[in-house]
Amino acid sequence: MSTPDAVAVLDMDGVLLTLPLDTDGLRAAAELELRGAGMTRQLRPFMQPLEASLLELATRAPERADALRARIWGLIDAEERRAAELARPIPGARAMLDRLQSAMPVALYTNNDEQAARRALTVVGVDPTRFFAVQARTQPRSLKPSPTPLQTILDAAGPGVRRLYFVGDHPWDMQSAVQAQRSLRQVGRADVTVIGVALLRSRWSAEILGREGASFVARDHAEVADWVLADRARGDASSA
Ligand SMILES: [Mg+2]
Repeated sequence: MSTPDAVAVLDMDGVLLTLPLDTDGLRAAAELELRGAGMTRQLRPFMQPLEASLLELATRAPERADALRARIWGLIDAEERRAAELARPIPGARAMLDRLQSAMPVALYTNNDEQAARRALTVVGVDPTRFFAVQARTQPRSLKPSPTPLQTILDAAGPGVRRLYFVGDHPWDMQSAVQAQRSLRQVGRADVTVIGVALLRSRWSAEILGREGASFVARDHAEVADWVLADRARGDASSA
């Protein structure tokens, strides 16, 4: 597997494990902090509008924005560290990971802080070193649906990769795949196909996930592995 032609990238929360994150509490705290800086904002979804608000504030009051950014992201980091200790496994996730990894290298792409993500994986018994690359929230500007982390993973995988499967449970995951495909084309790498594979959870419908770019919507983890392995095999057959 030293020169892979396909890689799988997994989202963490909702795909490999669940985190009891108090997102509503974080949202309320962040909205309060922004209101203190004269900005009334509804942070729903959470991280992208938060980041946009902080960037907007930075154009008016850079020092204030820096302090506010540090405070709010500090709250988020702390909540993620707390939730990581309480991470719960998802039935079927481990078997899916094992099957995917028997066929291709697997990486992780999460919006969570890297340390918290590694801790959460360890808590549910998944060794983080199983992933050949971990793209986490090292900087807020590369949050999903930024295409950059998937491109970084692709670079780490080596030049032979022709298919990248990104398995996620959120519309942003699917948008990340679409955007990564678009930016690869722009840099002349149309030889790589980025494929969004959605895992259907309770929150988003198959229709929405499909509209946001999922090539396949799986009802469970076994279906994810079935589909990815079959698609990979079809690719092998057509290029033989
Ligand atoms: Mg998720």
